[in-house]
Amino acid sequence: MTRKILVTSALPYANGSIHLGHLVEYIQTDIWVRFQKMRGNTCHYVCADDTHGTPIMLRAEKEGITPEQLIDRVWQEHFDDFAAFHVQFDNYGSTNSNETKESAQGIYRTLKANGLIEVRSIEQYYDPVKNMFLPDRFIKGECPKCHAKDQYGDNCEVCGAAYAPTDLINPFSAVSGAKPELRNSDHYFFKLSADTCQAFLRQWTRGGALQAEAANKMQEWLGAEGENKLTDWDISRDAPYFGFEIPDAPGKYFYVWLDAPVGYMGSFRQLCAKNGLSFDDYWKQGSDTELYHFIGKDILYFHALFWPAMLQHAGFRTPTKLFAHGFLTVNGEKMSKSRGTFITARSYVDHIKNTEYLRYYYAAKLNGTMEDIDLNLEDFVAKVNSDLIGKYINIASRCAGFLGKFFDGKLAFADSKSLLDNAKASGLAVAASFESRDYARALRDIMALADGINGVIAAAAPWTLAKDETKRTELQEVSSYALHGFYVLSILLGPVLPALTSRVARELFGMDRDFAWSDLAELPTHINAYQHLATRLDPKLIEAMVAANQESLKPMTDSHSETRHAEHQQHAIAPLAETIGIDDFMKIDLRVAHIVNAEHVEGAEKLLKLTLDIGEAQPRTVFAGIKSAYDPEKLKGRMTVMVANLAPRKMKFGLSEGMVLAASGETPGLFVLSPDAGAQPGMRIK
Ligand SMILES: [Zn+2]
Repeated sequence: MTRKILVTSALPYANGSIHLGHLVEYIQTDIWVRFQKMRGNTCHYVCADDTHGTPIMLRAEKEGITPEQLIDRVWQEHFDDFAAFHVQFDNYGSTNSNETKESAQGIYRTLKANGLIEVRSIEQYYDPVKNMFLPDRFIKGECPKCHAKDQYGDNCEVCGAAYAPTDLINPFSAVSGAKPELRNSDHYFFKLSADTCQAFLRQWTRGGALQAEAANKMQEWLGAEGENKLTDWDISRDAPYFGFEIPDAPGKYFYVWLDAPVGYMGSFRQLCAKNGLSFDDYWKQGSDTELYHFIGKDILYFHALFWPAMLQHAGFRTPTKLFAHGFLTVNGEKMSKSRGTFITARSYVDHIKNTEYLRYYYAAKLNGTMEDIDLNLEDFVAKVNSDLIGKYINIASRCAGFLGKFFDGKLAFADSKSLLDNAKASGLAVAASFESRDYARALRDIMALADGINGVIAAAAPWTLAKDETKRTELQEVSSYALHGFYVLSILLGPVLPALTSRVARELFGMDRDFAWSDLAELPTHINAYQHLATRLDPKLIEAMVAANQESLKPMTDSHSETRHAEHQQHAIAPLAETIGIDDFMKIDLRVAHIVNAEHVEGAEKLLKLTLDIGEAQPRTVFAGIKSAYDPEKLKGRMTVMVANLAPRKMKFGLSEGMVLAASGETPGLFVLSPDAGAQPGMRIK
């Protein structure tokens, strides 16, 4: 029977770049989703940027742009980073969407009608200069326990003490520096302390939706029977706030953590609109579809208490299971900017390029528990080279040539039945491991299989057989055995290495689609000529990546406060990029371009759509982030400079077929380049 499954990953916050720590979750989820799809199940994977809250509002203000402009820009960065790591969402949305807004307001109205919303006046620190209430993280002062200066309002980073912002000695606003005042304001609470919520959660958290370790944690938070330890949850924030207004409560906004999980629904609604799916099939109470949330262990509280209680009391189904995972360490320690191990997705792509290597390494470490995983950079190189190249790729690269040279690519098997039986048995064992998210066990089994195949090849020595014309039958049999083994390994590795195995299916085995799990029941009959599939991972690339991440932070280390950092930067130019030779420069094909048309893009905060003529048969479309600086009418007819050989990039609004060049610095302003008069469209710049 085909299962109907909806899967989510936690929503990344639109306030920073995706880094290797984030990717543990998205890669883990993507592998599971791809596995389900290969098995023939109906599986939808949705996610979105989490876009609301005070940090977004303040950061946009600091950059001199609107929050919408900030979240649009970050959305595109996140989208590109995930695509680079082959994380394939069926829909990637934003919590700042009508779909999420309507869902959040609908849930709120139902909870209110059910008597689970209460308004209470609370006393809170207020910034009298900035005219806003301050979240705990935006109040600083002296730790009441150890007297360390400059600590946050909720806990001390020096002695680890947790406290209320009102306990801080000499508190000040981290936004304006002003001394905050205590003021009263009405806040809206979700009554988690109500008997109906406590009773429901007591039963739900023990009902198998949580990993054992998470269920135990929840029992601690819930307290013993009758103890009712849960307190009501403050779901409102006062204006100014970037978020959704609470219905019938002017100036009050939903706390970002209310609409973040609702963003799963919002993103799925968008998918339903695209694909004609039924929202209710997946979300209505009593639904027989499956719903899984992959999350970090740090946000269990929100997903295992608030979220199911909200869903239950607003008439929706609750998650089938929460899959919580641990954090990433690099070389056994917390990711660190000073050690160069705080590595962004973009930086990995720039230096290592092959993102499937990291997918493989993470998979080899993930076992479905909440344990932290370690990316040991030396081990990473060793494992990729010994497993992927030495064991897996080697099988095809050593044996495919014989089939092409002597047998026209045709495979012939001595014992088809036993090959199929073994493939089936491996498929069952590995599928069970993927299903239970024990990817480490799946990969151990797969590599053991590869070892067995390599053993048979070594014993038969096809390279020796090939020299003896009387041994052609043996040569074809052992080579066919090897290529069948490679075929099986490729299917089993499909969820982990989607791009590589897609090439194997299409280029080597001549299929017109990617592998499905059911292909294990077939024997390939012929192969095409073997094309080079993968290269060893060079440890120098890792060294360069770590060095680059250390270097890029040097200007930051001496600047204690953000303000001082900004002052420091005003008088300096951005650091120069590393020195390159002329050959590297010549790889970039710069052309004079005539701007035939320039127009606004519906829904885009930053982009203009340019139509550029560089003397080709068809003009190119380029989306350029220059809307803040240019009126499209004034650009029409101008000459400019474009990068003409940049790989086309799929953006939210269409395909961008290049890039126009513009200058910018620390001071505001954006300046599109122009050639001197007389330059013609298509001329190369060098
Ligand atoms: Zn302290």
